[in-house]
Amino acid sequence: MIEEGDEIVLQLADPPNCPRCGGSGPVSAQFPYSWTNASGEAVPGIREATLCPVCDRDEPAADRLLAFFAVHKTLEPSELGTFHNLSTAWVAIARARKVNQQQLADEYERSRNGEL
Ligand SMILES: [Zn+2]
Repeated sequence: MIEEGDEIVLQLADPPNCPRCGGSGPVSAQFPYSWTNASGEAVPGIREATLCPVCDRDEPAADRLLAFFAVHKTLEPSELGTFHNLSTAWVAIARARKVNQQQLADEYERSRNGEL
């Protein structure tokens, strides 16, 4: 069994573009992520998500973090607590979304192979 740890790396300086629409966002996050391959083995990996003003709209946690960036162009030391809370909530959503997509892909693969 693989320990998933919680080592999340946030990138504020020049984060990569949104992998979904190619647009730019104010912050990206890298987090450990493991998935199960076709042989049933757990494969550890790193996933990355970019906070996107287009794709993440209507997601409450993302909206709050986007609103924070709209108000605070630079990250002041006094705002770090707020930023930490908002970014933690957003990363939790982003991680869950990745997992769901992987589960869907796995189920699709299995149904295609006649295993479901
Ligand atoms: Zn996007």
